[in-house]
Amino acid sequence: MNTYAIAIHGGAGTILKSTMTPEKEAAYTQALQDAINAGETVLKKGGTSFDAVELAIISLENNPLFNAGKGAVFTNTGKHEMDASIMSGKDLRGGAVAGVSNIKNPISLSRAVMEQSEHVFLAGSGAMDFAKKVNARFENDDYFFVQMRYEQFQMALKSDTMILDHTEDNFETGEKKFGTVGAVALDVHGDLAAGTSTGGMTNKKYGRVGDSPMLGAGTYANNNTCAISCTGHGEFFIRSVVAYDISCLMEYKGLSLKEACDVVVMDKLVKIGGEGGLIAMDKQGNIELPFNSEGMYRASKKQNEEIFIGIYK
Ligand code: ASP
Repeated sequence: MNTYAIAIHGGAGTILKSTMTPEKEAAYTQALQDAINAGETVLKKGGTSFDAVELAIISLENNPLFNAGKGAVFTNTGKHEMDASIMSGKDLRGGAVAGVSNIKNPISLSRAVMEQSEHVFLAGSGAMDFAKKVNARFENDDYFFVQMRYEQFQMALKSDTMILDHTEDNFETGEKKFGTVGAVALDVHGDLAAGTSTGGMTNKKYGRVGDSPMLGAGTYANNNTCAISCTGHGEFFIRSVVAYDISCLMEYKGLSLKEACDVVVMDKLVKIGGEGGLIAMDKQGNIELPFNSEGMYRASKKQNEEIFIGIYK
C-alpha cells in the first residue's frame, strides 16, 4: 500500500499580507482546511484520488470566496460562464466542460463527460444539454451572485478592462488575483488524479475560455509522471501547455517534479509574462506548490503528516 497525499489551490495572484484582514485570512484558511478534509476523508478510507479531487473541488466550488461555482466572476454580459476539467492518471481518461452556466458543480459535470459520454470536452449549449441529460444539479442566477464580484464587474465595465479574476478592495491599485480552484491527489493504490474549476476572467467576452478546462494546459494527470492543476493568466498557460510540459520534462528529460516545476513556472512562464502558479504531485507523493505571483492560496496534506496551509510568498 502506498501512502496517500492531497494538495489544493484557491488561486494565485497579488495576495499581500498588507491588504489582508485577520477575518479574511481566517476565512480562507478555514476554506482550505475544509477542502483538504473533504479530500482526505476519501483517501483515508482507501478511496480513489479521483473521488478525492472531485470532493475537494466541490468544497471550494461551494465556497463563495473562490472564483468557481458559487462566487464565479461575471462575464461581459453579466453572466457566469464556468470551465472545469478532471483527469485520471491511471488510464489517462479525462473530462472537461467550458462556458457552462447555472451548474452548481462544474467539476462533477466534467466527470460526467468522462464517465457518461464518449467525449472528453463539451462546451456551451451542447454541454448544457448534456448537463440536463445526466441530471446535473442546476442553481438559479441568485445562487451564483456575490456582491464583491458584482462590484468588480461594474468597475471592469466602466474601465472596459478584462480583469483576471477577483481583485477585492484593491482594484484601483492593480491588485490581481486568480481565484480558480484545483486539487491533485495520490491514493493508496498508487493512482494520481487532478482537477481544476473556474469562472475565468471578470468581464470576459466572446466565449473566452482559459486554461483550466484544457487537459495538458491547466490540468493533467499521468501515473508515470505527475498530477498538476494550474491557476493564473490562462492565455499564457495555454500557450505554454504548462501541465503537460511539466509531465514531459519528467518523462523525457528525467527531471524531478521540483526541477520540472522550477523550469516551467519560474523560468518559461516568467519569460513570456505568464503570472500564476500550480500545484503538483508525483507518484511518490512529493508535492510542489510553485508560483511566480505574490501569493497563492494553497494547502497540502500527506498521510501521517500535519496539514500545510499557505497564502503568501
Ligand atoms: N486560469 C484561469 C483562467 O485563465 C484564471 C485563474 O486561474 O483564476 O481562466
